[in-house]
Amino acid sequence: MTIFSLKCYTCDRISGEGIVGEMSEDKKISIAVIKRLPRYYRYLGELLEKDILRISSRELSEKMSVTASQIRQDLNNFGGFGQQGYGYNVEYLYHEIGKILGLDKTYKIIIVGVGNIGQALANYTNFEKRGFVIVGMFDINPRLIGMTVRGIEVRDLDEMEQFVKKFEIDIAILTVPKTKVVNIAQDLVNWGVSGLWNFSSVDLKFSKDIVIENVHLSDSLMTLSYKLNEKKQIKNYKDEKRSTAMRNHYNK
Ligand code: ATP
Repeated sequence: MTIFSLKCYTCDRISGEGIVGEMSEDKKISIAVIKRLPRYYRYLGELLEKDILRISSRELSEKMSVTASQIRQDLNNFGGFGQQGYGYNVEYLYHEIGKILGLDKTYKIIIVGVGNIGQALANYTNFEKRGFVIVGMFDINPRLIGMTVRGIEVRDLDEMEQFVKKFEIDIAILTVPKTKVVNIAQDLVNWGVSGLWNFSSVDLKFSKDIVIENVHLSDSLMTLSYKLNEKKQIKNYKDEKRSTAMRNHYNK
């Protein structure tokens, strides 16, 4: 299991491969816990939208299909947040998890490759609500250069270096073909970008100072297809067993 080294989340920068947590630097948090945090955050946000301000770990666990002890264990990694006999203060927990996830900051983002996926991401307004602000887009296709998406102009790739350095871009969304992505990512890293959200079907790897999320949409679809087929096979097997049993019954 991957283990992350941690630093206090009120500190400016996170060290190494680390992520955040109100704790001493030597305390470790597993990636499994960190991966569950966005889900807690999403559910708590939904509760807040319904004006639910307080929730017990049992209720939260029923809503999220996670055991109450799992929730307690997860949140204890970050100092608890719950009170005996009271449960969780939804608003407080929502904001604290937001802080842990770094959502109390804003991030300057560029999109490189403004094809179908790049444009879809540029059009998705919810990222901005979380502080992920798209400030620039780049492509090599002359038909796309000069076009605007939600008021943001698509610029020629040649302008990217100057733009990235001038605006101190935090994150680059990479939606270019897989044959191009490694060189582009290397340039961006050289120019100071330390977060890469990579949608091309290549796993990027850099030094531990660079944070990368490789997103493989088709992997998720293939998992879905596997589960769908597994269900069908189980159903076919059961149907077959049932008809064999019936045949045997009437042939007696
Ligand atoms: P998508 O994969 O998003 O559906 P697409 O099928 O239209 O898009 P791709 O060939 O995957 O096209 O390329 C995605 C985008 O990346 C295109 O707009 C293309 O012009 C752009 N692109 C290709 N090479 C580069 C490059 N070296 N730098 C920047 N953009 C590039």
